[in-house]
Amino acid sequence: MKVGVLGAGQLARMIALAGIPLGLEFIFLDPSADACANRLGEPLIGDYNDPILLAQLAERADVVTYEFENVPAEVAEFLASHTQVHPSPKALAVAQDRLVEKTFFHDIGIPTPDYAAVDSLEDLAQAMTDIGYPAVLKSRTQGYDGKGQSVLKSANDLKPAWELLQGVPAVVEAFVPFNREVSIIAVRSVSGEIVFYPLSENLHRGGILRVSKCSTDDAMQQQAESYVSRLLEALDYVGVLALELFEINGQLLVNEFAPRVHNSGHWTIEGAETSQFENHLRAILDLPLGSTRAVGKSAMVNFIGGLPETEELLAIPHAHLHLYDKAPRKGRKVAHATVRAENAEQLSVLIQKLTALADQVDDS
Ligand code: AMP
Repeated sequence: MKVGVLGAGQLARMIALAGIPLGLEFIFLDPSADACANRLGEPLIGDYNDPILLAQLAERADVVTYEFENVPAEVAEFLASHTQVHPSPKALAVAQDRLVEKTFFHDIGIPTPDYAAVDSLEDLAQAMTDIGYPAVLKSRTQGYDGKGQSVLKSANDLKPAWELLQGVPAVVEAFVPFNREVSIIAVRSVSGEIVFYPLSENLHRGGILRVSKCSTDDAMQQQAESYVSRLLEALDYVGVLALELFEINGQLLVNEFAPRVHNSGHWTIEGAETSQFENHLRAILDLPLGSTRAVGKSAMVNFIGGLPETEELLAIPHAHLHLYDKAPRKGRKVAHATVRAENAEQLSVLIQKLTALADQVDDS
């Protein structure tokens, strides 16, 4: 069985690392010849909309999936008309546009921060009379890791924030003074079987995820599962999906979803009985899904812009290093490490050790 992946970055690499023991083969399409998954399968090097490469991918892959959501819609449509594509082009289209996404959440009764569409500075000024300060202005498309976003604290911020977007369509939303950020990783298979992982508790800095901790027995688990199952069913979704949420005063508000394996689920490699990567493959191949039970208490720390010394990191008890085989560059995720502990106290000591190493090399 050959799995095609659009993108050959670290997510594709970890999908392949999970699939090789299951006897799967991989073919990757990525513009970069030195994309880090390329060595784990057959690389097709070129643009995502190169018709010759897409035809090769469709012909050689039994099923196609992707590692990021900004695949051009027509590419997913073309592939879906020639082979199986999971998740569907529809899920991709909803996730690609923050306005479409928020409207979709609204239509299926999942609460979000208050929001409004913004196509001009006048729209923005008008919307702010309802939304109120502080607020966040975000480009509708192509945003990730906090890119294309500005916090609006007063009317003085409107013009510079709008100009920064250079006229691209946007949404403005209420700034949520959240108690915590959490995400839920859920999986739905071709047959409709659904499983959920325990919540991840996430820490961002500068819009980039730094630390994710598995939160077992979380008071918010049930609410998150109810929201994400509604979303999975409404999209007739197949594969892993990550739903990002703000917790405020015992309520969850949805920020966004990612139609793919997600950084906040990397702890599942060592911290759950079946990793998100393996379950994504099981889901798209219509295999029985694996148990999502947490194994011990675990957390993951990202390395951004620089790598730790392998020896130093592995000297931390219970630490597991995942190097992505990417050249360090400013703001680039180049590795993560997971720790697994017996109890919460031990886990927080281990997280501190990992974050101290990550902060030493962090250049963002
Ligand atoms: P996003 O690209 O929408 O995932 O935003 C990146 C990060 O910015 C989030 O994980 C939050 O830490 C922060 N953020 C985004 N939107 C809001 C909001 N409406 N209120 C408060 N923080 C936000």
